[in-house]
Amino acid sequence: MPDLNETHSAALRSWLASAHAPDSDFPIQNLPFGVFRRRGSGEPFRGGVAIGDAVLDLAAAHAAGLFDGEAAAAAGAAATPTLNALMARGPRAWSALRLALSRVLRVGASAERTARACLVPQTDAELGLPAQVGDYTDFYTSIHHATRVGRQFRPDNPLLPNFKWVPIGYHGRTSSLVVSGHDVVRPVGQLMLPGADRPQLAPCRRLDFELELAIWVGPGNVLGERIDIGDADAHVFGIGLLNDWSARDIQSWEYQPLGPFLGKNFLTTVSPWIVTLEALAPFRVPFTRPEGDPPPLAYLDSPRNRIAGAIDIRMEASIETAAMCAAARAPVRLARTSYRHAYWTVAQMVAHHTVGGCNLQPGDLFGSGTQSGPALEESGSMLELSEGGQRPFALPGGETRGFLEDGDDVILHAHCEREGFARIGFGTCRGVVRPARAT
Ligand code: MN
Repeated sequence: MPDLNETHSAALRSWLASAHAPDSDFPIQNLPFGVFRRRGSGEPFRGGVAIGDAVLDLAAAHAAGLFDGEAAAAAGAAATPTLNALMARGPRAWSALRLALSRVLRVGASAERTARACLVPQTDAELGLPAQVGDYTDFYTSIHHATRVGRQFRPDNPLLPNFKWVPIGYHGRTSSLVVSGHDVVRPVGQLMLPGADRPQLAPCRRLDFELELAIWVGPGNVLGERIDIGDADAHVFGIGLLNDWSARDIQSWEYQPLGPFLGKNFLTTVSPWIVTLEALAPFRVPFTRPEGDPPPLAYLDSPRNRIAGAIDIRMEASIETAAMCAAARAPVRLARTSYRHAYWTVAQMVAHHTVGGCNLQPGDLFGSGTQSGPALEESGSMLELSEGGQRPFALPGGETRGFLEDGDDVILHAHCEREGFARIGFGTCRGVVRPARAT
């Protein structure tokens, strides 16, 4: 297992008891970064670290002199409204800050009193979009998603021949990126209904979610110079959750020949907390391919990628309909899967994105693509779960869903667990569907 250090020790305890509640996503072994301000305060956003039920204010901690040297410089970079400057500093700086945070937050820390004064309860915090995103790229790395969706359109040839050679992706839209909690207004667009001879402008009828990870880029590369797969991890700050809301009826009419456009660009939701690659080190697993599949081309292959390129991130999507909310029913899980099933790794995405000389920049965002596992109940979209709306999904209380309806709250979660290590979580990425605006 690469790159383990004292911050990963399962024996570590924080003096903040809530960090070690059994269901806490944020024990001292996690330490994810985000931006926040006190709700209703009008304060500027600044960097923070989630610990238990609180946020450690990095601007306050930096001003209070909690850190030295490289950690202090990194905390200073995070004392700003976005994490871009911290992301730009690279793994040595992130690691120095993580170690310093671990040491001030653990039981017995001499700086406990000072650090306590820098905590804000998460219930009082408004969380922001973690970075100013220059570019957003959505990949398509799940072979199970690609195959199940492909089968609906091409029963005899579900998987296109390029999938096993190219990490497929398209360039997305950054202006409509929002953080968890933002409503998703049902988009209006061109629909070509079955049997019609011309399209009409109408509200989307096949609104869907996509269970994805958000991969946040750290230091970039110079235009024209590619990032070698062996260096790729040093260019990735960390991972959060992403819901790539999708209007399937708009998408199916518009997507040929250039790919998704208005079917995707109306909104994309990310979770507020970014779990660093360092925090994820214990959950690395080998990158494997099924017997008989082609090996990746050399620029998409490295010893480290083979040994530990994949990550066992357990992901799930739940729904709470308006009726469930009114009846005080708990959300119901739609699907769960693991990122370990992805056909392409984070390092392969970075190497491929830059191989032609395209430059990445700090704060750029990759969507992992919808993550689905081999079984139907591991499907990360309604398109798969309801087989294109043909087999509506049954919910408690007698409701069914082929696609999303107004009032539905879609809730994404993820966590990592492994024997001998602390469980770490990703927090929440959610959004409620609201009615379409008038056409
Ligand atoms: Mn997607």
